[in-house]
Amino acid sequence: MPGSYTSELAEVLAPDVLDRFLRYVRIDTQSHRDRTSSPSTPGQLELGRVLASELEAAGLEDVVLDENGYVLGTLPGNGDGDVIGLIAHMDTSPDAPGRGVEPIVHRAYGGGAIELPREGTVLDPAAMPELADKLGHDIVTSSGDTLLGADDKAGVAEIMAAVAHLAAHPELPRPTLRVSFTPDEEIGEGATLFDIPRFGARCAYTLDGSEIGELQDETFSAIEVILTVRGIEVHPGQATGKLVNALRLAAQIVAALPSATLTPETTADREGFIHPMEITGTAGKAEVRFIVRDFDDDLLQRHVELLEQTAGQITATEPRARLDLAVREQYRNMRRFVTAVPKVTDAAEAAIRAEGIEPIRRPIRGGTDGSRLSEMGLPTPNLFTGGHEYHSVREWASLQDMAAAAAVVVRLAEVWSKDGDG
Ligand SMILES: [Zn+2]
Repeated sequence: MPGSYTSELAEVLAPDVLDRFLRYVRIDTQSHRDRTSSPSTPGQLELGRVLASELEAAGLEDVVLDENGYVLGTLPGNGDGDVIGLIAHMDTSPDAPGRGVEPIVHRAYGGGAIELPREGTVLDPAAMPELADKLGHDIVTSSGDTLLGADDKAGVAEIMAAVAHLAAHPELPRPTLRVSFTPDEEIGEGATLFDIPRFGARCAYTLDGSEIGELQDETFSAIEVILTVRGIEVHPGQATGKLVNALRLAAQIVAALPSATLTPETTADREGFIHPMEITGTAGKAEVRFIVRDFDDDLLQRHVELLEQTAGQITATEPRARLDLAVREQYRNMRRFVTAVPKVTDAAEAAIRAEGIEPIRRPIRGGTDGSRLSEMGLPTPNLFTGGHEYHSVREWASLQDMAAAAAVVVRLAEVWSKDGDG
C-alpha cells in the first residue's frame, strides 16, 4: 500500500531511523531492580558510548556520557527562543528476556498473523487491533524469544535521526535542543540522577509512548508498598503449636484484597489498582511487593490504606506474627505540573498536526521519566514512538510510525523556533 508514510519528511528520515534502531536493539540494556549503582547494568553504558559518539558525529556539542550513565548533548539553535529538551531511555524492561535480540523487518505488512521463528511466538492482529491498522507498513519484531526493545530504543533512534537531520540542515528553524538518553527508566530510576539545572531546558518531551499521534500529559500517581510478614520458623516435625507460617499469612493477605475490582486486569481508563507483583520468602519471613496506582492522589491514598488495613487485620489473627510495611512514593501524575505551562502541550499538538496526524490525548496507565521530571520542575509530556506490546516477546514497531515520530520532532523544533517566548 503506497503512501503509508505520513509525509515526505518521514520517508526521508525512515532509513536512518531504521538503521539506528536495528543497531541499538542488539545491545542488551536490560535494567536490573534494586540497583546498587547507576546504571544498574553495564550494557546501558555500552549503548551510551555508541550514542555519545553518534551525537558527536552528527555535530552536536557538549556531548558527554556522565558518571551515572546519562548521555547529554546540545544542538545549538539558529534563532532565539527557549531551550527545549528531548529525552528517551536506553534501558529495556527486566520483565521479558532482553539478551540476544535479533530484530526482523517484515516489509509491507499484508495483514494476517506474523509468525516469528522462535518459541512459536505469533503476532495475531485479531488480538492486536493496532497491528491490523498497519497494512502496508514495515513491521519490526524480535525473533520471538526476546523483547524487541522498541521501548524505548524507538524513541532513542527517532531523536537521533531527528537531531542528525536538523544538524545537517541548518536552514531548518530550530531552538537550542538539549538531548538526554537516560538509564534505568524501567526500574523507576530514570529521573533520580537527572540534573535539571545542568540540562537547562525550559521544558522537555520524552519519546516513550506507543500508538501514532499519542501526546500524553497525564500519568498515574504511583506508590510501592513492600509488606514483610515475620512468623516463627520451626522444623515441621516439631512444629505443633509453635510454627507461625509467614508465607501462609502473606498469601491470606493477597487473597483478602479485592480481586473483582482494583486490579490491573479488571480496570481500565482512569481506574486505579492494587497489584501484588512479587512474593518471596520462607515460612519464617515472607515479603510481598505491591504497586498501587491511581490518577487521583486521594484515591491512591485510599488504596494504600485499604492495603494497610487488610494486612493489619490478617496479621492480627496471629499475635505471634509481625508485620512491617514500607510505603514509598514513586511518581506523581504529571498533569498539574505540565498544565502550568500550557505551551508545552500546545506546541506538541501543533507539531503532530503539522505532520498530518490527529493528536490522541489519553492518560498513560503508567509512568514515564517525565512524571518525576515534571514534578521536579521540568514539564515533560510524552510523545508516541510507534512501538507496541511492550515488555513482551510480541513487542513490535512500525517503521512508518517511527519515522512519523522523528518527523514530529523536526516539526516541534520549528514550532518552538517560531514562537519564542510566548
Ligand atoms: Zn519506556
